[in-house]
Amino acid sequence: MRYHEIALKKNNRPYFMNLFRQNLASATRDLGLKGIKTLPGRLLLSFDERSNSKEIRRRIEKVFGVANFSFVERTLPDLETLQARILDSLDGKSFESFRITAKRGDKNFPLTSPEINRVLGAAVQAKSAARVDLDHPELTVTVEILPGAGFFGFDKLPGPGGLPVGCSGNTVSLISGGIDSPVAAYRMMKRGCRLTFVHFHSVPYLDRTSQDKVRDLVKELTQYQFSSRLYLVPFGDIQRQIVASVPRPLRVVLYRRTMMRIAELIARKEGAGALVTGESLGQVASQTLENLAVIEQAAELPILRPLVGMDKQEIIDQARKIGTFDISTIPDQDCCQLFVPRHPTTRANRVYVERVESRLEIAAWIAEGLEKTETEEFRFPEP
Ligand code: ATP
Ligand code: MG
Repeated sequence: MRYHEIALKKNNRPYFMNLFRQNLASATRDLGLKGIKTLPGRLLLSFDERSNSKEIRRRIEKVFGVANFSFVERTLPDLETLQARILDSLDGKSFESFRITAKRGDKNFPLTSPEINRVLGAAVQAKSAARVDLDHPELTVTVEILPGAGFFGFDKLPGPGGLPVGCSGNTVSLISGGIDSPVAAYRMMKRGCRLTFVHFHSVPYLDRTSQDKVRDLVKELTQYQFSSRLYLVPFGDIQRQIVASVPRPLRVVLYRRTMMRIAELIARKEGAGALVTGESLGQVASQTLENLAVIEQAAELPILRPLVGMDKQEIIDQARKIGTFDISTIPDQDCCQLFVPRHPTTRANRVYVERVESRLEIAAWIAEGLEKTETEEFRFPEP
């Protein structure tokens, strides 16, 4: 298993590597993982022979920080054994060109890397009749000889890239049942953030579908960070209060500001250093530059908006790729459809908004909302 970006973080490297190894272990522990060994520039994960390599592959493909990986077989560190095992493993593979890429990690091994390439190359050619092509081979046989063990393998599989989850700290992700916020969460996890999820719902004014969708979304996203906490915050009463006392066009901005305040209190409790939203510039009326500015001014913590410069289609494509799109598009009753005016302001004015808010009992509403908040825990793999 190879990584790249981690290698750039000189001083924090032991910390990064430790987290990375922990994440790899969390992802594969229940699949017969026997150990993780550090090699120069790579990690070697050993598995029980009977392990399910398809499932191992699916898991590793979701561990951020992995640049690429391959399945290799361990043999005795001698050329005869390696050659016999490689030739056996070629049964059923058809290819017209190949190369051997050997690396001699054990400098006491009697042959040099080019010599190993030649010996094994001749054997593979004799068996397969394929030609050697060093530049564009159809099949690459990777061979490595370390003290006490030889290894060989074929395909290099791409990893997801990114940074190990946790290395960038904790953040709170505001997650609706929509398409955007799960993609935003994914992108921040990929940059090493560990997320706590917060969802605002309007039960009993609306039904529970948004909660069920968010549970399914969080379950999906937990595959990348192995454990998650979801806060379910009742928001219907707060919306009613806002409707009762705030001019129509301003309501959406006030809902959002109140959400930010609540999310920030949860973030403090969770030791999180930022809030994450799925906002994208200009996508809806609440997401103009003016409104984003007035919304973010309600919280002290930075608000991270990884989708801010993405088109809706780009977001949808990514949602499909990560498997959240089909959950997000189940029809539901989102809290933001409740009491949403037809013509929300696109140019909220901070001074005016603050004047309106000063007449409201926002702190009391928030306290009450938090008191009725429920939390749920998620794990992957499920125990
Ligand atoms: P999404 O697809 O994520 O719902 P959206 O395009 O519908 O986004 P808005 O409804 O304006 O946009 O919401 C902007 C952001 O505010 C969301 O991406 C999400 O981070 C947060 N948000 C909105 N509604 C909720 C909610 N009910 N619970 C938690 N966060 C929410
Ligand atoms: Mg939405």
